[in-house]
This record gives sequence, structure tokens and C-alpha cells, in this order.
Amino acid sequence: MGILKNFDAGSVKKDKVVTSSCPWTTISPGLAYCGFCKNAGCRAHNSNVVMNRGKGLHVVNDDIAGGVLRCPACRSPVELAYLALFACKATVTVMRHAEEKAQFEAKGDEIVKIAAAGGTQMEEALVTVDAKVAGDGCVVM
Ligand SMILES: [Zn+2]
Repeated sequence: MGILKNFDAGSVKKDKVVTSSCPWTTISPGLAYCGFCKNAGCRAHNSNVVMNRGKGLHVVNDDIAGGVLRCPACRSPVELAYLALFACKATVTVMRHAEEKAQFEAKGDEIVKIAAAGGTQMEEALVTVDAKVAGDGCVVM
């Protein structure tokens, strides 16, 4: 079982969605992983790419270990830069020595970005994200 090094639920930035025609930067409601494709032969080389996970309970460690973090354009492994939440309410739980929970809400065209510096390196913490989208038993206002 692995973990995100330096994962810090306190280092959160908000951003706005922009209209884009790039399929690899399209974000869906719920949780998404974001990173940069380092494959020089890829159309999305050095671009921000988005790997949508959507609503529900996601174990970040399992997603990393399970190869979810792949460029949507070329399928190369991508190092995680941050978690992004869009059009949802989410509870992020970090289990280290003690359990820490943080709640986030992404409203309207907001994207909540949670930094995951250190990318896919592992340490002794387990990170889960439980994302609820509007119409899923929860109201996003
Ligand atoms: Zn790529």
C-alpha cells in the first residue's frame, strides 16, 4: 500500500475552468488527477493532462499503484501534480499516524486544486477522496 509524499490537504488553490477543445484537458464532475505528459512524441507533451475519476470513493494510492495515471493522449505514465475537484463536494482523508479529514467544495466553474508535491513517491500515508456530485444525494450550490 502506498502513499503520496508531501501530500498536504492544506495547500489548496482555486482556479476557473476554461473552454478548451483539447480532449486531454477536459475535466468531468468529481475527482480528477492532473499532471504533465513527459513523452516527447505525444501531442500533449509538456501539457497539463487530466485523468478523470469522477464521483465516488477513490483511494489515491491504489489509483497510482494501479496505473490510472496515464496520459489520455498517449497512455504514458504521468507523474501526479495535483488532485482537482470540479462540480462536487469532496471529503479528503489522509491517514498517517492519525486520520486527518478535509472537506472541499467546487462550485460553478471553480476547480479546487490540491497539491500533491512529490508526485507518485510513496510514504506512510493513505489518501482517499470521496466525491459527491450534484444530483447524487447532495446539492452543490
Ligand atoms: Zn501523452
